[in-house]
Amino acid sequence: MSEGKFLHELVGSMSQGAAGNPTVAMIEAAFAHHGLHWRYVNMEVTPEDLGTAVRGAKAMGFRGFNCSLPHKVTVIPHLDGLGESAAVMGAVNCVVRRGDKFIGENTDGKGFLKSLETEIDPKGKSVVLFGAGGAARAIAVELGLAGTRQITIVNRSETRGAELVGLLRDKLKLDASLAVGNGDYAIPAGTDIVINGTSIGLYAPEARLALDVNSLQPGMVVADVIFNPVRTRFLDDAAARGCRAIDGLGMLVNQGIVGVQYWTGLTPDAEVMRKALASAMGV
Ligand code: NDP
Repeated sequence: MSEGKFLHELVGSMSQGAAGNPTVAMIEAAFAHHGLHWRYVNMEVTPEDLGTAVRGAKAMGFRGFNCSLPHKVTVIPHLDGLGESAAVMGAVNCVVRRGDKFIGENTDGKGFLKSLETEIDPKGKSVVLFGAGGAARAIAVELGLAGTRQITIVNRSETRGAELVGLLRDKLKLDASLAVGNGDYAIPAGTDIVINGTSIGLYAPEARLALDVNSLQPGMVVADVIFNPVRTRFLDDAAARGCRAIDGLGMLVNQGIVGVQYWTGLTPDAEVMRKALASAMGV
């Protein structure tokens, strides 16, 4: 095993109950396309074994790993440090070996931002964001760090919504406000970007957000975190009103791209990754 070409660098994915994770196909397609002898390995890890698994990955020389629910917050005490946005949001989905340290990053919001920036620079813009769960939190923090002027969080539960607004105000000094779901929400005039950060629409093409679609104006940028179906009812409604629509598959591909960049230092081919992911998901 002395020749490098027979050795594989390892990156993992620690999750529970995510068998058949299509991200594996996407990341391994990038490694193969760029001639990297790397492997991305899906690992079922229980909450009780998380610390042992992280120490094991470090001992075995893993270059890093993704982690998904239920490990995004509980992994933090097992790491050596956090990147800027992961520290603000208090959640990690991507761990990167830097020297002998495992550093926690969050690529969900960064992946979203990369997609958004194909249509609009969020700096100085006004945003309405539906949702206050993990994805919405990641997106809101990255938008804040990118210089968004104002953000309104629209959420069903007041507690979670208020928690996110408090975080944005306290940690990022952002002009943030909360609208608690009460009938169809009308997007205020002057809004530049409207985002669905809820799970409404996942595997449910007919599901609809509590949104007054007539308040969507031509030229607004409208983005969805939902990646299956790729084209949601929300995006169709928005496109029909002249908005520029961004799907959630792009966010998923981009968070994979950011991860591969972190682990390998290489900028992978986005099209290769998108095709592999879409094919693994059957969309
Ligand atoms: P969470 O469970 O943390 O949050 C779910 C959010 O959706 C909450 O704001 C919740 O409101 C809201 N919600 C759920 N059901 C309803 C409903 N019936 N009516 C009103 N609001 C509702 O999930 P995540 O934030 O982790 O994920 C959200 C979605 O984002 C998922 O579908 C996930 O697949 C997708 N995602 C996509 C990514 C991508 O790369 N494209 C990356 C990460 C996630 P409440 O607080 O009131 O419960």
